[in-house]
Amino acid sequence: MQAKQIQQKRLSIGIVGGGIGGVAFAVALSRDSSLHVQLFEAAPQFSEIGAGVSFGPNAVKAIHLLGLDASYQRIADASPAPFEDVWFEWRRGSDDAYLTASLAPGVGQSSVHRADFLDAIVANLPEGIAHFGKCCIDVKQDADSATAIFDDGTHFTGDVIIGFDGIKSAVRSHVLPPEQYGEITPFWSGTYAYRGMIPTGQLESALEAKGSEKRLALVPQMYLGKDRHILTFPVKHSQLINVVAFITDRSTPIPMLRQHEEWVQATTQEEMLEVFEGWSPACQAILECIPEPTRWALHELPELVRYHRDRVLIVGDAAHALVPHQGAGAGQALEDAYVLASLLADANCHRHNVSTILSAFEQVRHSRTCKVQRTSHEAGDVYEYAGEGIGDDEAKLINNLETRFEWLWHHNPHDDVVAARQIVALATSP
Ligand SMILES: Cc1cc2nc3c(=O)[nH]c(=O)nc-3n(C[C@H](O)[C@H](O)[C@H](O)COP(=O)(O)OP(=O)(O)OC[C@H]3O[C@@H](n4cnc5c(N)ncnc54)[C@H](O)[C@@H]3O)c2cc1C
Repeated sequence: MQAKQIQQKRLSIGIVGGGIGGVAFAVALSRDSSLHVQLFEAAPQFSEIGAGVSFGPNAVKAIHLLGLDASYQRIADASPAPFEDVWFEWRRGSDDAYLTASLAPGVGQSSVHRADFLDAIVANLPEGIAHFGKCCIDVKQDADSATAIFDDGTHFTGDVIIGFDGIKSAVRSHVLPPEQYGEITPFWSGTYAYRGMIPTGQLESALEAKGSEKRLALVPQMYLGKDRHILTFPVKHSQLINVVAFITDRSTPIPMLRQHEEWVQATTQEEMLEVFEGWSPACQAILECIPEPTRWALHELPELVRYHRDRVLIVGDAAHALVPHQGAGAGQALEDAYVLASLLADANCHRHNVSTILSAFEQVRHSRTCKVQRTSHEAGDVYEYAGEGIGDDEAKLINNLETRFEWLWHHNPHDDVVAARQIVALATSP
């Protein structure tokens, strides 16, 4: 597009990062012809790993509001009947004893294969918006514009830059300059996650061979124990079962990775089986079906004091990366995408007042996203018998598991849009 044509647009928006959040955001913005939207992804193409991602009712709502329902429903899995409302069943990891179930009426366990989901939403992105091999290394701004600078020597200048560039965000240090806020780096949560996928039929046979119920394969399960837990849920129209097995080091308040240790590594089945030695027959069956697990050192960000600096904003994991224990990180990125796209689509959002709109976004989203970070970390403690005031007291544990997701799930992101518009109206009223 020629410079003159861009100038005629109401707003020019540069998005750094084409993960689930950045692509959903770009799709939503691209429907508004008064906006000039460009997305810059560091990788040579859009890519996601072949693991599962689970969405709570709030995330499913955000997907609907983003207009991605049809793309999502084509690939989404749900808990099988008569367990449609079950998000997860909770069991004791030592003997498979049933503790309780967390219910999400009307949604249950709504999950997808990550790569399939990214492909499905990318299909909604018009040509000419996405640019690859564009690794952002710096951001600058002045009173009239903001610029993202890439490692290939090119740059993009627009009215705003939105950093959707994940936990290792390059945009973040512009919003929170280290000289003012100190170096902000992701920290290891103390938890390793072993990941794998199992063909459903294979897991069903393995469960039966151990004397366990076959339905434990398709109905989402969480097996709990001291400093460890395992989760399973189906993806790919129930052809595969996504497995994540967690172990946490709570021996020290600030757990540290070994120097230069990679965040993600291939590991051995032997190591994983050793970690879960003595666990139940179902857990053994699951882990024995994963010959080549990967091991992820789960990192999170501290709660940031702000997400916004004038014409630049960070969102998604760039702003509030968290541990996955409530299945909430991608959901928060999608909520951010919907709320921000709605605000930028307002006809009264222009280059001269866009900073006020980004500020209003931060004001309505900050406390919720920080709470999701905090409670996601706490959830890991609860599942692993280390929850404050809960420990291994099963009655308290059950009560917590049955109620802890209510506030997270029963949130309508459109309420954030309404609240932000009120803030903008107040800020701009004479
Ligand atoms: C083990 C595990 C399990 C999880 N399970 C769930 C779950 O069940 N449910 C859930 O909701 N969430 C889950 N999450 C969290 C979820 O994956 C993230 O919250 C989500 O992917 C964040 O999306 P995002 O778009 O903000 O960032 P990302 O998905 O990280 O995307 C960032 C994009 O930016 C690009 N990029 C990075 N740096 C640059 C740069 N400098 N310049 C240009 N591009 C750049 C990257 O290549 C990438 O494409 C899980 C996470 C883990 C680790």
